[in-house]
Amino acid sequence: MNYLRRRLSDSSFISNLPPGYMSDLQRPDPTPQSSGPGGFFSSFSNAVKQTAASAGLTAPTAPAGESGERRLLVIDLPHNDWTKCFRGKRVHGNYEIRVEQAEFSEISLSAHSDGAYTVDLQMVRNGNKIVRSFRPDFVLIRQHSFSMTENEDFRNLIIGLQYAGIPSINSLESIYNFSDKPWVFAQLISAYKMLGPERFPLIEQTFYPNHKEMLAMPTFPVVVKIGHAHSGVGKVKVENHYDFQDIASVVALTQTYATTEPFIDSKYDIRVQKIGSSYKAYMKTSISGNWKTNAGSAMLEEVAMSERYKFWADTCSEVFGGLDICGVKVVHGKDGKDYIIEVMDCTMPLIGDHQFEDRQLIADLVVEKMNQILSKTPGPSPVRPTETQQPQSGTLQESDPSKTPAQRPPPQGCLQYILDCNGVAVGPKPVQAV
Ligand code: ATP
Repeated sequence: MNYLRRRLSDSSFISNLPPGYMSDLQRPDPTPQSSGPGGFFSSFSNAVKQTAASAGLTAPTAPAGESGERRLLVIDLPHNDWTKCFRGKRVHGNYEIRVEQAEFSEISLSAHSDGAYTVDLQMVRNGNKIVRSFRPDFVLIRQHSFSMTENEDFRNLIIGLQYAGIPSINSLESIYNFSDKPWVFAQLISAYKMLGPERFPLIEQTFYPNHKEMLAMPTFPVVVKIGHAHSGVGKVKVENHYDFQDIASVVALTQTYATTEPFIDSKYDIRVQKIGSSYKAYMKTSISGNWKTNAGSAMLEEVAMSERYKFWADTCSEVFGGLDICGVKVVHGKDGKDYIIEVMDCTMPLIGDHQFEDRQLIADLVVEKMNQILSKTPGPSPVRPTETQQPQSGTLQESDPSKTPAQRPPPQGCLQYILDCNGVAVGPKPVQAV
């Protein structure tokens, strides 16, 4: 400012100013701006709002009045149908739970610091492309948000959901923290240090930030685990230092970290799962002889829930501020000892004969959390549709049609179109009840 004043007292500077500049400067200030560095951002967001308004888009911030439902976004693969698990369930006794299910690759979202957010789904079901836009009140995440193998990285969506402040199971913080296995293992190391090897028998592990550090020779055989991958991918049993060097050269290509663990000559694996306050334990024995029980065929049996298993599950459920759903993976060696190798989060696959029951337990947990977290008053509500949807014949059945009232009008605010696989709209349709 002082610099500008000095320059304005300089007559040669003034004579070089563009016409009208001085009168513009002398014009009284418009309404005073709030203090702080928000000027640029507020004018930018105003510009965005104006553009949005001129484009006919509706900001999803304002509650759209009475809404007899609460929206639940379930992120999972389509073959795990969650709609039936929530059928008849209600929040605060009177809000129906409307389930919208999609996998990460079908989701996009935008979120604003003022609390406005919209989630868009674009998916193909039964050959029809469906586009929906809505505001979820809660999210259940059952799909890995990050895997190096698939080259799938949806951590940006986890950030977006967190930015939007949407409550979820598990917490979005914990899900984000689960994007790197050694980062999670570091939590287990803390528990091990606190509890000791008797109470919390964590496997020994060495972390290498990259292949260059893989010089120290471990005691063989070892299991090398490369990067963040699931389903046994990137896990190699190494018998000697020649093979170890070979594997280090493969790690060099991956540009990621690796860990090594002593290879445990195992009798079976134990998996302890915790869904809210429900616990189950399973024993997995390899049949095909593969050292990884998750590769080839394996036998799965439910085993009694011991205090020890429960203690491990409870301990692991405390990481990253608490996990509503978690699983502990343990290798039981032929030496009779247990070795905790990993904790899984809400994305753990359901196994065994009680998968239906487990799904119901997860649904109950979600409803419980929704009751705790969501307000009893209406809103947040779905985005108001930008155009009226007319029902047309040839509707897409995504849920049990016998439970669906015919030609039910679209619930307030849900956008749904049928598009062919080239993305061309072949007509709007009423949203099916779930
Ligand atoms: P998932 O995605 O199925 O959980 P993952 O990719 O996380 O698998 P791990 O669970 O670490 O892989 O390893 C796969 C399997 O290999 C385990 O279930 C276990 O049977 C075996 N395994 C893992 N680490 C060891 C080890 N140190 N010693 C012996 N066996 C091991």
